[in-house]
Formats: sequence, C-alpha cells, structure tokens
Amino acid sequence: MTQMPRAAVAGGGLAGLVAARHLAGAGLDVTLFERAENVGGRVWTQEQDGFRFDRGFQVVFPSYPAVRRELDLERLDLRRFASGACLARPGHRSTLSDPIRNPRALPATLSNTDVSIGDKLRVVRLALDLARYDPEAILERSGPDATIEDYLRERGFSERFVENFVAPFYGGITLDRSLSTSSRVFEYTFRTLLTSRAAVPATGMAAIPAQLAQHARDAGASIRLETEVTDVSAEGGDGEAATVTTPNREYEADAVVVATDPPAARELTGVESIPTDARSCVTQYYELPGGTDLESGGRLLLNTVDEGPNQIVPHSAVAPEYAPDGAELISATYLGEREESDAELEAISRETLESWYPDRRFDALETQRTDRIEFAQFAQPPGFRDRLPDPRDPDGPVYLAGDYTQWSSIQGAMKSGRLAAKAAIEDL
Ligand SMILES: Cc1cc2nc3c(=O)[nH]c(=O)nc-3n(C[C@H](O)[C@H](O)[C@H](O)COP(=O)(O)OP(=O)(O)OC[C@H]3O[C@@H](n4cnc5c(N)ncnc54)[C@H](O)[C@@H]3O)c2cc1C
Repeated sequence: MTQMPRAAVAGGGLAGLVAARHLAGAGLDVTLFERAENVGGRVWTQEQDGFRFDRGFQVVFPSYPAVRRELDLERLDLRRFASGACLARPGHRSTLSDPIRNPRALPATLSNTDVSIGDKLRVVRLALDLARYDPEAILERSGPDATIEDYLRERGFSERFVENFVAPFYGGITLDRSLSTSSRVFEYTFRTLLTSRAAVPATGMAAIPAQLAQHARDAGASIRLETEVTDVSAEGGDGEAATVTTPNREYEADAVVVATDPPAARELTGVESIPTDARSCVTQYYELPGGTDLESGGRLLLNTVDEGPNQIVPHSAVAPEYAPDGAELISATYLGEREESDAELEAISRETLESWYPDRRFDALETQRTDRIEFAQFAQPPGFRDRLPDPRDPDGPVYLAGDYTQWSSIQGAMKSGRLAAKAAIEDL
C-alpha cells in the first residue's frame, strides 16, 4: 500500500485551519501545530461570568466569498449590526444609515446635518460606481493606488465628511484613523457594505475558528495544540521533503504550510517580503446595568472627535448572548498602542459617554476586560498588494498562508489558506 503524502501546517488561525481542511480533503495526511492552547489566532472569544469578550472588536461580513465557501453561516446563528453608524461628539449624536436597506432610517439620514447633501450624493455616486465590480476584482485591480484620504479628496468629498465619518468608521476597520491605508481596502469594504451587514456569531467570534477546526478534523486533519513550530527546513530543495521542528520532536512532511502571524512567518521562512509593520489597538469591555440603552438602534457609535476611543460598541444590544441576564456589555476601542493604564482608559470612556449623553451618568460602568493587541493587522499602505509574498516564495515544498499574502481580514486569511493548499496539492 502506498503511503499518503504528509502535510504539516504551522499555525491554527483562520488561514491554517482552512489550509488543513483542503489538504486533508485532497487525501493528505495532515497535522496542524498551534502554539496556543486554542485555535483561532487573532479571532477568539473569552467567556467569563456569562460575558463573551471577542479578542478586540471584530465583525464578519457574511457576503465575503471565502466566508460563504468555508463556513456554514446558518450554524453561526449570526447577529447583525444595523447598517450605518451613530456619529457622536460632546453634546450631540446623529444617525447615518443606509436608506436603501433601511427605509425607516431615511428621514434621520436625510435630515442629518453632520453630512452635507453634496457628500450624501457623492456617497450614492461612489456606491453606483463600485456596485458594478466584484469585490475580489477591486482588490486585484492594477494601476495607481492612493491613500483612503487622497482617494476621497479626489472624488470631491468634503473635509468635514472625511473627518466626521470616514476617519472613525474606516479608522475602526483599518485601525488607522489617519486614513493612510490603501484605497483598495476602502473600496473592497465599501463594496461589501453595499450588500452585507456586519455580524457576529451569537456565541462570539470564536465560533468561526471552532467551525473551521471541526471541518478540518472531519476531513481527517489532526490538530496539536500547545505545540510551537521552532523551525521549518527544506534543505533538499524543490520536490524533496521538508522538516518541521517542535520542542519535542521533528516531523518529515512532503508539504509544509506556514500559516503563522506575519512576524513568526518571516522568522520561520526568511521571506523578506512578509509585511511586519503592525496596526495595534486596545479594546476595553464594560458592564452596564441591564436595560441600559445607548439608543443607537444596534449601530456602532463613532467618535467624530479625534481623541478618546475611536468607537463604542453596544455588543449585547446587537447580540444579547454576549452578556448575562441583568447586564449589558459595551466596548470602547482605542487605536494604536496606548500608554494609559486600564483605569485611565476606563475614566476616559466614562467621560466620553457622559459628554455624548449630557443628561446621563455612567457611574455604574465597570471594566470587565482590557485587550491590548499589539499585532492586530499588518499595515496596508497604497501599493501594498504589489509587494506581498507569493505562497510559493519559500524554498522547497514550503508554502505561505496568512492574511499577509492577501489583505488583513477574515476574507484574506481564509482565502490564503485555500490558495496555499491548492499550490501544495498541485506541486505534489
Ligand atoms: C482587534 C482586531 C480586529 C480585527 N477586525 C477585523 C474585522 O472586523 N474584520 C475582519 O475581516 N478582520 C479583522 N481583523 C483581522 C483578522 O482577524 C485577521 O486578518 C485574521 O484573523 C488573520 O488570520 P491568520 O490565520 O492569517 O493569522 P493569525 O490569526 O495570526 O493566526 C496565526 C496562528 O499561528 C499561531 N502561531 C504563531 N507562531 C507559531 C509557531 N511558531 N508555531 C505554531 N503556531 C504558531 C498563532 O498562535 C495563531 O494561532 C481584526 C484583527 C484584530 C486583532
């Protein structure tokens, strides 16, 4: 009997789990090594005292092609945010919605004086332009690229619109309020928002990697947790086996997929084009008394003033499963690495809320958890796509998977896992 080809996957984030599933599905004998005690990498949920704390504020767009391909969305039991956002500053809050998908919000959106009629029309024109393209084609587009800020100025958007709405909204998505990220990322996500509302699984974002891990196991892959890959070598060159080293032993494999976070992937493979400039953030979760309503209608609250948290999210108003009975869960996300202590951030969030709701007090707000995430996304400046590594860049039968081969997102990570597996299978 001939032996099945063996494949090893280093890293059990979304990319590694998808790669393991496809490799096993093609009949390979697959072992995935994950350093942490759980799979999921940057997508995880901590459960504590009836609360569900995602690893930083994250959402999934159900229309992402890789999400549709790899996940059973029904089983995720998604809870959706209302479209648009609530714009907030001291003494003032207003609603900006998508009147096409939410006609009841039309009067509030039309009468919103935080955004001029000219900018509302420019949004409609942009939507009509981008609706003609498939999102993946937008990302693949060649030609000049610009920062999000320059792209919007070029299209005539006012400074007020860019600062009041785009900076906090896309600052939250790209973790970069200066809008220096590539316009391709803006176009992709803007296009996605035309057909999809941001959502979270009822039991937290960890339901996504949990389901992917189940699919990988069902396809025959075995997953070893708390097993760090310390070295990957392919000294035999193309077509030869590679060796994966863990603290306890070495494994020979006919194909190795390196699906760790970008800094670890660069360390393991030596591929210099792996981007390692980080975007960081701090998400702090707060308990509020049950029934406390931030009156945003299930929307994010965006801070139009460039200080304090970038956004405040009413988690349990959107997904009641995120808080135990008698409590509400909200979070505040601060962009970058913050020097303030947890207590200082809590005080800033309380002051911010009290400035947005001048007739209310938030004395009962209590911090439940603070996530300081150093490497949340890799930086994606204009033209970044041209510089990304190819899955086949490492020497020998070693392949790269990870958001850093596509773009920093759940879509990018999942797609990369399938492409790396495909390359390995083709070469075998
Ligand atoms: C706060 C935050 C907010 C975000 N918001 C969104 C959002 O709203 N929507 C969206 O689409 N995307 C969002 N993202 C981005 C998205 O989560 C990531 O792009 C995606 O999860 C990356 O997946 P990955 O598998 O490529 O890498 P990772 O998740 O980093 O997985 C790599 C895995 O490799 C493991 N590992 C590392 N080194 C080793 C080693 N030597 N041996 C074995 N295992 C190792 C790690 O433990 C980890 O499990 C956000 C990310 C963060 C952190």
